[in-house]
This record gives sequence, C-alpha cells and structure tokens, in this order.
Amino acid sequence: MQTVFEYLDTCSVGRLFLLFLLENIVIALTAVTIGFSLDGLLMKMKQVITKEEIYWACSTAFFNTLVTLAGYKLFQQGIIIFHLEFALWKILIDFVVLILAMDFLMYIFHWAIHKLSIIYKYHDLHHRYNTPTALSLFVLHPMEVIGFGSLWLCLLAIGGFSIYAVMLYLVFNVAMGIIGHLRKEIIPAVMKEHFIFQWLANTGFHVDHHQHETSNFGFYTKFWDRIFGTLK
Ligand SMILES: [Zn+2]
Ligand SMILES: [Zn+2]
Repeated sequence: MQTVFEYLDTCSVGRLFLLFLLENIVIALTAVTIGFSLDGLLMKMKQVITKEEIYWACSTAFFNTLVTLAGYKLFQQGIIIFHLEFALWKILIDFVVLILAMDFLMYIFHWAIHKLSIIYKYHDLHHRYNTPTALSLFVLHPMEVIGFGSLWLCLLAIGGFSIYAVMLYLVFNVAMGIIGHLRKEIIPAVMKEHFIFQWLANTGFHVDHHQHETSNFGFYTKFWDRIFGTLK
C-alpha cells in the first residue's frame, strides 16, 4: 500500500484525475455487470438501458472522481489521515465504525433531502426509477454526488481510519447499492422473515423507498427507520 501512495505522490493532478476516473468507471461497470447478471438482464441490456441513464452514470463517475481527488489532496495535506499498516483488529473495528457512522449520516442526509424541497429537486432525478436497476444506482444529480461525497470526506477527516477498512467499506457500499437496485429480491423468500432482515436492508427495502418516498430512508440497516418511525 505504501508503494501505491509513493507512486500517487509522483503523479500530476491531471494524471491523478485520469487514474481516479478509470477507478470510478471500473467500479460502475463492475456494479452494473453484477447487478444486471443477478437480474438476468445482461442479454437484454439494449432494451433496459436508456441514453439518459448512461448520461447520468457518466456524470456520476466524473463527480465521484472529483470527490476521490479531493479526498486524496486532503490526505496529502494531512487533513485526512490513513493508517497504512495491516493490523487485523484495527481493520475490523474501523470497518464496522465506518458502516455504522455512514448508515446514520446517510439516513439523516437522505431524510433531510426528502423534507427540504429546496434540495429535493436534486434527488428527484434518482426517483424517476420506480423499478430501479444497478444502472439507476448511478443516476444521481451532481449536487447529490458532491453532498454524499462531502459527508464521506468529513467522516474520514474525523477518523484516522485504516486504509484497508476504507477499501473494504467502499466495496461494501457498492455491494449494498447493487442489492438495493435490483429487480429481483436477493434474499430468498424463506429467509426474508428472519430476525436479521428485520434490521438489515434487503432489495425490497430500498425498492419500496423508490415507490413510496415517505419511508425507508436508510441504506445498510433498517435501524434508524425503526427508531424514527419511517419504516414501511
Ligand atoms: Zn430518496
Ligand atoms: Zn435508489
């Protein structure tokens, strides 16, 4: 990991931008491929994808790249600190803390977006899809991408997290994004009533939010929706 950062330190801003853009494009393509495979839509891509979704997905990759670049610059300036050593307990604890903290922060941010009409107009774009797919996951207004990105960078600036925990969290975040934007429930019917899915988010939880905007504002868990009485 040290070697990666040493290499990045030698790169110009332009090269960093291109590298991070490539990273964000690979993440989006991987997520869409996995999501469409799970939905059995891979062969029907041409019928399912619209030009509008492709446009907004490209825009999201671009603005996510700006967030990544901003994060890297904050790291270079010592405002964001990453622990680079591979310490298993530190990684596991930081991974759980990142999930719990972002679950709470994103619940509040998402709830506020829906309550404040002045900013809801930016989130409305994502709600055009009643039956979302993994591509709709990336249909986000730039203001929303920057809003969520800023929340993430603020948490990192407070933290001093393990870089491995941060990478694990980013994989987890995309995985939960895919799960929430499928056309088929990923949890087998026999498991859906299990205690654990009374608390953890499943596909139907976020798809319901696309269809009924007054409930289910959480992303990873149903905890905050249960606490604040917004669970459908
Ligand atoms: Zn929403
Ligand atoms: Zn969504």
